[in-house]
Amino acid sequence: MEYLSLLFVAAILALIPAAIASSKNRSFGGFWLYGFLLFPIALIHACIMEAPVASDSTVRHGIITGRKCPFCAEIIKLDAIVCRFCGRDVPKDADSIARNAEYIEQLKVRLL
Ligand SMILES: [Zn+2]
Repeated sequence: MEYLSLLFVAAILALIPAAIASSKNRSFGGFWLYGFLLFPIALIHACIMEAPVASDSTVRHGIITGRKCPFCAEIIKLDAIVCRFCGRDVPKDADSIARNAEYIEQLKVRLL
């Protein structure tokens, strides 16, 4: 009976790393099992890990530096108009054009 209550407490405690992992777009079930088996390690792991970046762009130091080619799925530069991997034309997305225009406006304000 005491063994069963120990398992019950472990199952409840495992919800903590599972909830943290879930908030960082990781598997709730996977981290629940991880926490159930190795609670202290799973808790620390869930706390220190970072959420995965969006699959269609790469982020370094908070700055988006690349995006995914829609044809070959390789990461190419944000401003590229031709993919260097497959050679196909990749239209610049409206977001990056808007960001560049905004950045240029900020530079103009600083210079004037
Ligand atoms: Zn490509």
